Amino acid sequence: MAVLVQKFGGTSVADAQKIRRAAGRALNAAKQGFQVVVVASARGHQTDHLIADALEVNPNPPKREMDMLLSTGEQQTVSLFAMALEGMGQKAISFTGAQIQMMTDNSYTKARIQSIGVDRIFNKLNEGYIVIVAGFQGVDEQGNITTLGRGGSDTSAVALAAALKAQMCEIFTDVDGVYTSDPRKYPKAVKMDQISYDEILELASLGAGVMHSRSIEFGKKYNVIIHVRSSMNDSKGTIITHEVPQMEGILVSGATIQKDLAKIGLVDVDNKPGNAAKVFAQLAEAKIVVNDIIQTEVSADKANLSFTCAKSDLGDAKKVIEKMQSQVNCKAIFVRDDIAEVSVVGVGMRSHYGVATKLFKALADAKVNIDSITTSEIRISCIVDLKDGDKALTVVCDAFELDKPVDQRK
Ligand code: ADP
Ligand code: ASP
Ligand code: MG
Repeated sequence: MAVLVQKFGGTSVADAQKIRRAAGRALNAAKQGFQVVVVASARGHQTDHLIADALEVNPNPPKREMDMLLSTGEQQTVSLFAMALEGMGQKAISFTGAQIQMMTDNSYTKARIQSIGVDRIFNKLNEGYIVIVAGFQGVDEQGNITTLGRGGSDTSAVALAAALKAQMCEIFTDVDGVYTSDPRKYPKAVKMDQISYDEILELASLGAGVMHSRSIEFGKKYNVIIHVRSSMNDSKGTIITHEVPQMEGILVSGATIQKDLAKIGLVDVDNKPGNAAKVFAQLAEAKIVVNDIIQTEVSADKANLSFTCAKSDLGDAKKVIEKMQSQVNCKAIFVRDDIAEVSVVGVGMRSHYGVATKLFKALADAKVNIDSITTSEIRISCIVDLKDGDKALTVVCDAFELDKPVDQRK
């Protein structure tokens, strides 16, 4: 029998009625002949509430205890989900991450999945149960509870789909699918029928909160077909899959804005081998995820080095850099936390010219200053002042006609 993984996000299980509705969907899939594994998130804003509770007792809570606390949100949902299914006459059993051996490293609050035990799940599926697994959480080798980072239930679901060799992983959420940009920030955005792993990976890494970026890495690596769709209706959503030739024809598929970034610059670092290695080794040691790195030679013996990271890591990153300052002979350190990064993404960029020009012109016409620019093969990102961020996203989306379906763009 084929396995189907269905993931329900926070808004899709926010109250009793929504849990019953989601349970009904899982039951329907079981009736269609699938072995169904549900992955559920914490209800509504439960994770935010738990974070607020933690900060109330300690403004700087230990990360291990944070994970211990946050994992309870998902644990509530899965038991309620199983109860709802039992109430419909369907055998159901819930598991925490630890109970199914969702093994992770020990990076609390941003742990990475290392392996998943599937025996317990298969045993229950073969006995006719629907299995409900708590998303977002795992356990390290020492038995400590870990969490995968905000939005991490997507990753639990796709990783499970890979481990169980599921036919598909359905991501039920509060939007109809993946849009050309976040519809809350660019209301004219349109839904895409399909998108490649590479594109959604870039979009997710650049702030499109619709999918947790690690989930796409799993999807691509293990060929999991992902269907992002609404939990409120039956309409077809967006299929995330390998690239097909017609995707090449689309100049830009989507645009994002990221506001939770900070930038640290090291001015006049000695221009000699090993300095960048030293800086980034120390940042890695402190478990800081670095995004864009820019280094430029300013003279034969000096260079400027800057990088972006999550605003939440800024305090730790600053401490690391301050400790390094004399080692790399850096004249000054500058820090900015009033920035936004606007990005455009599309596999079509590989074969089309003029994308950068169009982007820079749209920003220039709107009188938005560009602080720095970074690119990959399929994306261009500009850092702008935070105050200009929303305007920048709108003019960029308009310039690339992200308010129109692909076949109606010029
Ligand atoms: P869930 O709780 O179901 O995981 P999320 O809030 O994590 O839901 O993700 C869904 C939200 O992602 C949407 O409500 C939307 O505002 C946001 N989003 C950001 N970028 C996009 C995009 N490109 N397409 C669709 N939704 C997006
Ligand atoms: N409940 C977690 C969060 O709010 C994980 C998730 O929803 O995917 O971030
Ligand atoms: Mg989410």
